Amino acid sequence: MTKEQFIEELKKINVDITEYQLKQLEQYYELLIEWNKKMNLTGITKMEDVYLKHFFDSATIAKIIDLNKIDNLCDVGTGAGFPGIVIKILFPKIHVTLVDSLNKRINFLNTVIKELELVNIVALHERAEIFALKQREKFQLVTARAVAPLNILSELCLPLVKIDGYFIPLKSNISQEIKGFNKVISKLGGENLEVLNFELPYENSNRTLLKVQKKNKTNQLYPRKYADIKRRPL
Ligand code: SAM
Repeated sequence: MTKEQFIEELKKINVDITEYQLKQLEQYYELLIEWNKKMNLTGITKMEDVYLKHFFDSATIAKIIDLNKIDNLCDVGTGAGFPGIVIKILFPKIHVTLVDSLNKRINFLNTVIKELELVNIVALHERAEIFALKQREKFQLVTARAVAPLNILSELCLPLVKIDGYFIPLKSNISQEIKGFNKVISKLGGENLEVLNFELPYENSNRTLLKVQKKNKTNQLYPRKYADIKRRPL
């Protein structure tokens, strides 16, 4: 996807982008490529691929929620900043918390934050299951892309969501994972599941956005230790 195509596709999902935001994304791309030479951040490096598979893919969350109405967001397992940094650039008013268990990625994210002069954003070196015990019900929106299967991810992310807030995982293929998902989210205080299937433009690969609303407090038992969640998912 060229930059022009990126702008066009954003328009289709009602996201406007300024020259300044486009410059920030260019800087982000350059830093990603530079740091990727010394550490593993992404296997996708061609500019047109990064704009489609990382930048636009992250922005597709705007299809399922009006991000202008969101005050704060936590991106769990953010890696090189997807979707968290892209959302921050496109919707600068949102207070963003990025969480990842790999410190090298946090160092990269802190450099991006500094170089792009982003404010009201923090990158934290934490495991999600520990972070969720400390920051229960703090965030209006929790996102996660490519971190874990849905049932495990829900246990890590739903405790972080405020009552009436949302958990939105970005997924590529959920045919197996979706089975029993309603039961899992209701155990964790979530309901009103919305599922949006679509294709990423140009390469036509499948994507699914799920939107879960938090309606009840998550039981204090959750999340369990990661090993326990993996051994015996809800
Ligand atoms: N969300 C990014 C993306 O879509 O490009 C990164 C995806 S990467 C495949 C998964 C990331 O989740 C890694 O950066 C990894 O360090 C992080 N991660 C895995 N388990 C985690 C946990 N329990 N707590 C926090 N981060 C975790």
